[in-house]
Amino acid sequence: MFGLVIGSFLTVVVRRLPVMLERAWRSEVEAAMPEATRPAADPYPKRFNLAVPRSACPHCKHVLRAWENIPVISYLALRGRCSACGARVSPRYPLTELATAALAALSLYAYGPVWAGLAAFGLCATLLAAGLIDYDTRYLPDVLTLPLLWAGLIVNFGAGGFVTLHDAVTGAIAGYLFLWCVYWLFKLARGVEGMGYGDFKLLAAIGAWLGWAPLGQVVLIAAVAGAAFGIVATWCRRMRFEEPQPFGPFLGAGGAITLFVGTPLYALLG
Ligand SMILES: [Zn+2]
Repeated sequence: MFGLVIGSFLTVVVRRLPVMLERAWRSEVEAAMPEATRPAADPYPKRFNLAVPRSACPHCKHVLRAWENIPVISYLALRGRCSACGARVSPRYPLTELATAALAALSLYAYGPVWAGLAAFGLCATLLAAGLIDYDTRYLPDVLTLPLLWAGLIVNFGAGGFVTLHDAVTGAIAGYLFLWCVYWLFKLARGVEGMGYGDFKLLAAIGAWLGWAPLGQVVLIAAVAGAAFGIVATWCRRMRFEEPQPFGPFLGAGGAITLFVGTPLYALLG
């Protein structure tokens, strides 16, 4: 139940955070521009953050009543449609809520009803939100990756963390440097940018949580899953071959999988 509620909040974060960040950047740029050359404002209301305005149908602006805002249940009761105009509601909302609930259950099962269980869930929920935002916008916000890195160091600060503080700090450094090196190798050798700086920060954060040792497996899972996704998405014509592909969702998946199953790949590879 807790996971469903957090999942419902995550759908709000994924939808609104990119708009809030873009607005902040625009206002910085526009402050330096002459009045007449400023572009038109975005279509969102003046006060727009994670709490206000209340959730509404993007088609008819019908404000959701309390009973229309219950995770998963409302979606099923309304058969995936807006109660006012009948427009389809994306199945991504209930799927995100269900995925978050599953991650909460997994965290509780793997680590028990202790701080480590709550921390593991916090890591998973942040990875999910960051991955979805990266998928939508090809951008991994610093406001998610950097606090996640600090949280990893704090969780591993005392006893009862996932790894020693020494491993956590080494993981944060190794995570960033590894992808930074891959990025520059590609850029110098082929002139292509295969990743962004957000990816380095995200792997640094995962390293701060899980230590340096499992990062090879995290990157391997991410690379294989990302390539598989790219092939399938191109095949289904959902994406063009040369289109930049997000890497954050796959790094996040690699991190979450490693959090729960450890590093069986290393055992397999000898
Ligand atoms: Zn509607």
